[in-house]
Amino acid sequence: MTVRKLAGVTAVANVVVVATGLVVLALLPAADNRAAPKEPAASPSPTLPAPTLPPPTPATVESARKVKANELGQVPVLMYHRIQKKRLASIDRTPAQLKSELEKLAKRGFVPITAAEFVAGEINIPAGAHPVVLTFDDGSPSHFALDARGLPKKDTAIGIIFEVAAKYPAFRPVATLWINGTPFGLTAEAEQARAVRWLLDHGFEVGNHTYSHPDLRRLPPKKVSEQIVRQERLLRKLGVTSSTTFALPFGSRPRKAGVAHDGKWDGTKYHFDGVFLAGAQPSVSPFDKGFDRWAIQRIQSNGTAGDCRKWCSTYWLEWFQKHPGKLYTADGDPESLSLPESLRDDIGSKWSKKVIVY
Ligand SMILES: [Zn+2]
Repeated sequence: MTVRKLAGVTAVANVVVVATGLVVLALLPAADNRAAPKEPAASPSPTLPAPTLPPPTPATVESARKVKANELGQVPVLMYHRIQKKRLASIDRTPAQLKSELEKLAKRGFVPITAAEFVAGEINIPAGAHPVVLTFDDGSPSHFALDARGLPKKDTAIGIIFEVAAKYPAFRPVATLWINGTPFGLTAEAEQARAVRWLLDHGFEVGNHTYSHPDLRRLPPKKVSEQIVRQERLLRKLGVTSSTTFALPFGSRPRKAGVAHDGKWDGTKYHFDGVFLAGAQPSVSPFDKGFDRWAIQRIQSNGTAGDCRKWCSTYWLEWFQKHPGKLYTADGDPESLSLPESLRDDIGSKWSKKVIVY
């Protein structure tokens, strides 16, 4: 994400109108183009609302202290599966549940970034905001489908993300979709390519979740690599040029763990910059020396029943309300890393940002 690109459209964002119901859907295409991180922004129409971000401002000790910036704080990487009215498995969420969770995040100052941005340390969100990574596994038809007008269908995950972004303009409409061999239930390659292209054009990340979703712990290394390469080839065929993150099916690591991020099969090599677990807790900051990019924690989106009494999103979002100092809070300046004095020794060595300690 280049912040400069976002800054260029801020003036347009000020033309935001109050958008509700059908108006929101009608306005989607231009609104999301402006938030696209990887693609050149389409020429924005001044009459349409845009959920977008303010330009970055240089951080100082005073500004960092004022917003209690903590860029070594924890980041929730939320994990979603199917989004459907009738929940058939405990990990399914209803459209109403997803919408309510996203609105809660928006009201609490969370701004979505993609998993690729997260592992690259590209957390270019406003001062005082908290990053959240929204991840959708398995390429369910309930995540993304286009209607007759070429817009995301209502009550799909992507449709809901835009609905919330239209209501809360600071809520940047991006997410990561880790897909398998039949993306979004589409069997025709042209349809698959159209869906993936639409997502990429609108700033979403589409990534590798293996070709047929096996438990990688049960496979020999060569089979693990085959699963990854087959899916890499499909992603490339569908227009994904940058595949930098990988989500382990069932969160299950191969016995030879390294083969999940680097390997080769049938003459094709692969490498990922980040591997995500299924997990049960927030991730540490990518700038923290304890960050393990090959085993990034995620939090299952769910209520507080059963195993989710702890460990799922409702629990953790309440926990952060009680422990705001543990949360990643941005200083608004991508060039610097701001943190309280007590965390000075926890900075990872990989990063060469200007450090602001208060
Ligand atoms: Zn999965």
